[in-house]
Amino acid sequence: MAGEPQDDCLFCKIVAGHIPATVVRETDTTVAFRDINPQAPTHILVIPKVHYRDAATLAAAEPAITADMLRETGVVAGEEQLESYRVVFNTGSGAGQTVFHAHAHLLGGRGMHWPPG
Ligand code: IMP
Repeated sequence: MAGEPQDDCLFCKIVAGHIPATVVRETDTTVAFRDINPQAPTHILVIPKVHYRDAATLAAAEPAITADMLRETGVVAGEEQLESYRVVFNTGSGAGQTVFHAHAHLLGGRGMHWPPG
């Protein structure tokens, strides 16, 4: 069923507590944890607890939870005392998506370039 946990999904396992993660914040609908391979001094993933393959699919099915995820990026950025930061949704393998459970990357703590690579 749409949104149900998937046995083969790494982030569903983190939500369930079956794989350890450095969780910085949790709400009824989201979990935020530090990326295992940080690309900036602060690199945190904010994910919905429900399983959808990417952020756009999540948004189509669960707009309120998508708003929760986006709001949480701002809350965590505040807690991390980031004045500037970038929020990224890699969507599809060609764009660098490797985990097919919706997630927002929150990156900060260093200068950022535009356009991104
Ligand atoms: P994507 O490449 O946009 O799909 O982002 C997936 C992110 O998950 C990558 O930045 C990985 O470094 C990160 N990642 C993979 N496994 C783990 C883990 O077990 N804990 C925390 N982050 C992870």
